[in-house]
Order: sequence, then C-alpha cells, then structure tokens
Amino acid sequence: MSILQFNGPQLGQKIRMVLQTLPSDHAVLVAESNADTSALSGILSDAVHVQKGMGKINCVGAHRYLTDEERRRALFLVDCDGEDNQELLSKDALILSENRDLESDMFFRMRSFEELLVRHFAQQDGSLSNFRSAARECHDFVLETATRVGLIRDIANRLGLQTRLDDILTGKRRKVGVRDLKDIDIYCSSLQAPTFGTILAEFRDLLGWTSVEMIKVRNSSENNSAKKCRMHNESDCLACKGRRFANGHELVDLGARVLAFKRHGSEGLQTPGFREFEHLLRASVTSEACADWPTVARIRRFESWGGFSILRTPGPLQQDLHSY
Ligand SMILES: [Zn+2]
Repeated sequence: MSILQFNGPQLGQKIRMVLQTLPSDHAVLVAESNADTSALSGILSDAVHVQKGMGKINCVGAHRYLTDEERRRALFLVDCDGEDNQELLSKDALILSENRDLESDMFFRMRSFEELLVRHFAQQDGSLSNFRSAARECHDFVLETATRVGLIRDIANRLGLQTRLDDILTGKRRKVGVRDLKDIDIYCSSLQAPTFGTILAEFRDLLGWTSVEMIKVRNSSENNSAKKCRMHNESDCLACKGRRFANGHELVDLGARVLAFKRHGSEGLQTPGFREFEHLLRASVTSEACADWPTVARIRRFESWGGFSILRTPGPLQQDLHSY
C-alpha cells in the first residue's frame, strides 16, 4: 500500500479492527514510522500491539476518527517536526515528541551516545571528567551538523525548493541529508562541523538550486538566527535550534560515524562500518535509560488510567499516578 493511498480514516478503521481482536485490557500503540517503532522496541511490553501510522497526517486523522472509548485503548505517538502543534498538545491519548522526532528525543534524553563514548575513552589513562568533556565535544559536533543540515532542508522546503534526489544505491527518491555531504568522513573523524555555507553550496549543487534560490535560503536563515529563543532569550541558540531542526535518524547516523572513528582510529576512514555502531546506539535504549524522559511519564499516565501495560517494566510512577 502506498502512502498516497493511505489516509486517516483508513488507519482509524484498521486500529478499530485490531482493538476488536485484542483482549479488553490490551492497548494499541500507534507510532508514525518503522524507525519509531524499532527505536521504541527495547522499552515496550510484550503485550502491546504496535501499529505503524505512516506519517503524522494519518495518525492525527485516525486519532480524530476513533471514538472516545476507542481512544482510551489507543495511544498515539507523533513527531513534533519543528511545527507549531498547539492544537494537538491538548488531545488525550496523543503524545508529541519533545524534539523534532522520537528518535531525537531518545538521542538527547538518554545520553546513551555520550555514555558509550565515555566507556570507550575510559579504556585509556586519564580522568573521567576529561573523558566526559571529550564525549561532550563529540555530542556537540553531532548536534551542530545535524541542526545545520535540518535547518537548510526545512527552509528549502518552506520556500518550495527541490529537496529530494535519486539515491545512488537504491535508485529511489529520498530527501537530501547528512550522508550526501562529500567529506562526511573527514568531518566525523576530525569533529569539525561543516559550516552552514559549505552545506548550502553542496546541496545547491546536488539539487540544482539557482544562485537566487541559494541566497533566499541564506537570508531566511539569517533572519531566523537574529530572533531570540523563548527558552533562553539567546539569538542563534543551538539548543533550541537543535530541538527544532535536528532529525533523529541523522543524529543517530552521525553519532554512529563518530563512534566508529573513535573506536577504529583514522584507518577506519575508508570503511567506517558505522552501521554496527548504529545498532549499538539503538540497543542502549533501555527502560532505565528512559526513566527521565517525559514521553515515558506520559505513557505511564495513560497506562495507569486504563490499567494497560505498554512499557516493559512497571515504573515507580505507576503507583503515584493512580491518584490522578
Ligand atoms: Zn534557546
């Protein structure tokens, strides 16, 4: 089934059918994409039925389609996508990611990336505080690079510019991204984030933007940077821009590349083999690591209200929330 054929009511009907076949004390968890469900798999209870939503529009449409009673047993997790989601925030049984998407939530909150690096550095002589600051440097490089790439892609989308290209390996159309930067290995091994201008020029060449279009993207970014963020009252605030623009898959992808270079040194430059590290990062998504993630707290609340079990281990919150 293609994404074009799929729509909210259709997904709603599918969820309704699943609910009818499940025991009444079981819930359905609807997440936007395959990447979301695989990222969550480490913390979910065996009993929960996971339904892929195929995009935010379908998920929101299906949420609207279901009755209140059905929504009591169907929890939706959708990506924020850096949009203004005021209307969605108040909906029952619908949880928005804190950052751009669920994967970036995990990357930011759980610090699994930094923990893995610290563990690796700790095999050498030195102090833990030095290892922690080295890990922080890697983290900042990843955040900075993913944010710049995401920002340029977002602005280009908004301006109606081409942001998709043919993948050389699969021949399929996909969004331009971090992996298209030609010196990606050099950036990741040296921890020198490519500048906004470098990424912009490369994307222009890859996507055939005109000079005028490129200037529009740059101007829009400059206007955006001049504004002060609400949370820290800073202009060009990386923390806030990262929340909004950094794509979760790209954070994990960059994190895995950095980790691969740290483990193998520069001889890995030809073949970083970073997929193995991507698995390692995803495998570190455990219930304990997620304990302070607000999304988990909201899932706990949904569990308590309905008496369901969605997460693998019962949380300490579960008893407290019975008083809600
Ligand atoms: Zn800020």
